[in-house]
Amino acid sequence: MDLGIRGRRALVSASSKGLGRGVAEALAAAGVDLVLNARGQAALAATAAEITGRYGVRVLAVAGDITDAGACAEVLAAAGAVDILVTNAGGPPPGHWSDWSRDDFLRAIDANMLTPVALMQACLPGMIAQGWGRVVNITSAAVKSPIAELGLSNTARAGLTGFVAGTARQVARHGVTINNLLPGLHATDRATALDAGAAAKAGITPAEAAARRAAGIPAGRYGTAAEFGAACAFLCSAHAGYIIGQNILLDGGAANATF
Ligand code: NAP
Repeated sequence: MDLGIRGRRALVSASSKGLGRGVAEALAAAGVDLVLNARGQAALAATAAEITGRYGVRVLAVAGDITDAGACAEVLAAAGAVDILVTNAGGPPPGHWSDWSRDDFLRAIDANMLTPVALMQACLPGMIAQGWGRVVNITSAAVKSPIAELGLSNTARAGLTGFVAGTARQVARHGVTINNLLPGLHATDRATALDAGAAAKAGITPAEAAARRAAGIPAGRYGTAAEFGAACAFLCSAHAGYIIGQNILLDGGAANATF
């Protein structure tokens, strides 16, 4: 299917690896020029070069911590006007509800709620002015199906979800859509790190921990960044203009609920 977005320009934050990179690749395959971002310069430059080489789109790489207000402003300034915004950042560490301090909560809220809100506040006016725009926020399956040890993530992402619920309906009449994609377990560095933590806790190997977690997913496996990217690219496509303010689970059926 032609996604109808060839020649559009997208900013994908936190995109040198993992789900963000999967999104960048899928958009590039649809002919979208990209602004990529990550903290680590080397992996970012390598990803940008590989994507340009493979898909022939223009790629601008801007290194910086997207959760830092100054760096975020630099990324936005370098990006200029964009048609598509995909917000992403690293997730907060796991832990226990009794241990989290006010500063832990503020860090998580800054990274996984206020940063995507700031990115949207910066990009939405241009999209509204031109009468077309697409925003997808990468959140987490934990928004619908809480994971207790990721309580910092549950908390911050619930706040972002609330912001999107109202704002998506305010901007929809201008041809701008905002939706959230909720990943369940996907095979990325983040999943590997969480497997290692679970393995250490249970006294098993990371491979055993991964196999146990995969066995609990109806699809019987972790998702891939490519699958995630393809779903996101569809939400960014010309065909998705009537999908507004949705929270879409990509979790292999793991959340056991009818709706
Ligand atoms: P990942 O494999 O660890 O990749 C994270 C990417 O984001 C890397 O390119 C990383 O590069 C960049 N990044 C991280 N923090 C950044 C920051 N502060 N500023 C700029 N770039 C940053 O992670 P992932 O699995 O793709 O996860 C992406 C998001 O989805 C996270 O919020 C995660 O919590 C959420 N999620 C993932 C899963 C899963 O199973 N994978 C499930 C549910 C939710 P640098 O390190 O060089 O900055």
